[in-house]
Amino acid sequence: MKQIDWKQAPSPSFVVDERLLKRNLELLKSVQDRTGCDILLALKGFSMWSTFPMARDYLKGITSSSLFEARLGYEEFGKEVHAYAPAYADHEIDEYLKYVDHIVFNSFDQLARHKEKVQALDKHVSIGLRVNPGYSEVETPLYDPCYTNSRLGIPFESFKPEELDGVEGIHFHAMCEQNADVLERILVHFEEKYGEYLHQMKWINFGGGHHITREDYDVELLIKLINRIQETYDVKVILEPGEAIALNTGYLVATVLDTIKNGMDLAILDTSATCHMPDTLEMPYRPMIIGSGMPNEKKYTYRLGGMTCLAGDVIGDYSFDEPLKAGDRLVFTDMAHYTMVKTHMFNGVNLPSICLYNEEEGVKVVRTFGYEDYRNRLS
Ligand SMILES: *Cc1c(COP(=O)(O)O)cnc(C)c1O
Repeated sequence: MKQIDWKQAPSPSFVVDERLLKRNLELLKSVQDRTGCDILLALKGFSMWSTFPMARDYLKGITSSSLFEARLGYEEFGKEVHAYAPAYADHEIDEYLKYVDHIVFNSFDQLARHKEKVQALDKHVSIGLRVNPGYSEVETPLYDPCYTNSRLGIPFESFKPEELDGVEGIHFHAMCEQNADVLERILVHFEEKYGEYLHQMKWINFGGGHHITREDYDVELLIKLINRIQETYDVKVILEPGEAIALNTGYLVATVLDTIKNGMDLAILDTSATCHMPDTLEMPYRPMIIGSGMPNEKKYTYRLGGMTCLAGDVIGDYSFDEPLKAGDRLVFTDMAHYTMVKTHMFNGVNLPSICLYNEEEGVKVVRTFGYEDYRNRLS
């Protein structure tokens, strides 16, 4: 594969490689083709809408967890629009219903509150309920939908089989960056509790968190599980990954602005952990940089920090073969998902430009940001 010439990209910028995105989409489509299941893009994880014309050739539609995501999916993706939210506000539900064809409620009260409106529409919107399967293997509470006292999904104790009138689907989401063996174990718990109600449903949504495009993911087991559930209960399986669609398809290009010393070598970059890759602080995790090593693995180790005044705006410690100097380019990998969607302008720091890459056209800048974007968020 032809190497990207990073000097073509503005700094800082996100660069998504269309070749890699296409590879992920092809794998996801093969799962759809081999099972008849539907795969949706969860916009929460990846909403770079300049890629939607490509993604819509492969996926069934999108899923949204807010009114704006639903509208973006409706206007820019243009296939099925699903929605789930912990609660829908009365002043938003009418607009929501213009965009969606599936809507998932988080409680029987929400179902009762909005059901009449859904059923009075002159189009069919399929109603689902999100349940909490009561079992997950996510180790970070911030990302565990089944954590103690979770507000996400109806716990089995509150499930009311006598109130399922008009409900066509069941939804659960209990995974994060996991393989199919975790799904298999969740299904054991899910079926034990909710299996008997699945026979009367049209669809079952396994949520997101399936790391399908990761190298060691067990696609064959996923296909087996989908086929078994579809055959046992005569339902359609829906998956709604976000991360798996954009996994390992994008980069964040940054530049060293200065190097200083305080007990160790420090480098200040024209990007920011908190503004441009907040998951490095929240998850937390250590992004890779092309050509770098772990601290002290290579000759020159630096602590890389962002350009805000937040003391903790630190990306991590990295080592390099050569000393860093102002003007050097650093390229962070796997920066397409849960980055662009999470950026903000804290401290007045501008957002990275958004770029696409393909071999014919090279790096194309699709969006740059400026002072107006910062000012318009405030008043
Ligand atoms: C976040 C989320 C997803 C997508 O999860 P990924 O980890 O990005 O695959 C899907 N469904 C729901 C309900 C979510 O909250």
